[in-house]
Amino acid sequence: MVDVLYIVLPCYCEEAVLPITAEKLRQKLADLCRRGAVAEGSRILFVDDGSTDRTWEIIRELHEADPVFSGIRLTRNRGHQNALLAGLMSARAHADVTVSMDADLQDDIDAIDDMLARYAEGCDIVYGVRSQRDTDTYFKRTTAEGFYRLMGVLGASVVFNHADYRLMSRRALDALSEFREVNLFLRGIIPMVGFRSASVPYRRGERAAGESKYPLRRMIAFALEGITSLSVRPIRLITGLGVAVFLVSLGMLLYFLVRYFTGNTVTGWASLAVSMWAIGGLQLLAIGVIGEYIGKVYLETKARPRYLIEEVLGEDPPTRPDR
Ligand code: UDP
Ligand code: MG
Repeated sequence: MVDVLYIVLPCYCEEAVLPITAEKLRQKLADLCRRGAVAEGSRILFVDDGSTDRTWEIIRELHEADPVFSGIRLTRNRGHQNALLAGLMSARAHADVTVSMDADLQDDIDAIDDMLARYAEGCDIVYGVRSQRDTDTYFKRTTAEGFYRLMGVLGASVVFNHADYRLMSRRALDALSEFREVNLFLRGIIPMVGFRSASVPYRRGERAAGESKYPLRRMIAFALEGITSLSVRPIRLITGLGVAVFLVSLGMLLYFLVRYFTGNTVTGWASLAVSMWAIGGLQLLAIGVIGEYIGKVYLETKARPRYLIEEVLGEDPPTRPDR
């Protein structure tokens, strides 16, 4: 039995690269179909993440020329992660298996063969892992790898050097749909889904055309989102710091008392220094405790829709968009 594959690509202002990507993927899919690796009815699904350029028109033209291309348009720019989720949740209604990748061809499309092979062996999730990043700039490489390490230290388990190039079975997508988080960081959530998984190494290429939509500012925001949506450890660190500073102040109190009674101190100085440390420590402690509660509340109140769909090309939309 061969399965229906959907390749899902979030696109934000990708008019420069979209025609190239579309052609390459069309050939790839035709090839997979011919070899019997995937079923007829497999599709390439573009998600337009509220682009301000001609991206949606290009997707529409592609769809009109060849129904192998389908599209979803979000009502506004919601960011890569939400766009990807929108695509995956729509694909879930029609596909047996999905592969998500960036629209800029940085992910080597030939790795799809290996991913499908792992899927055939019974894996529900297959991570595309960058074997090396020599095409990234030194800066991008070090910041990105530092980010994966920091995530580990802060208690979020992510697959090292894996971005959003991955295969997921419908079963895994159904499980993913149970995760209701609004602060979406798929790389952290998908390992929580479980199931049998595997990794496939691939070479990260350069962008085929156009510019990166992730300047440093967005990279930092993305990293913070990843850390704070996956773990409350930073808040615990604050609490720990508060306790430590407060203990230091107790130590200093003792030290200054001894100095006071042995008679060599400036009047007023000791009490000032001690109270500064004590109050500082207590404040941090209090912020940490409050933060702990806010952290809990915030984890519970994620209930806004993560994306809204404006238009669908191709298959009927699922009756109700996944929240
Ligand atoms: N993207 C998106 N919404 C955004 C920003 C980016 O859907 O708000 C898409 C973009 O079109 C691309 C993918 O996310 O397909 C990765 O973006 P990009 O290649 O710019 O990031 P980089 O590879 O430089 O980290
Ligand atoms: Mg890219």
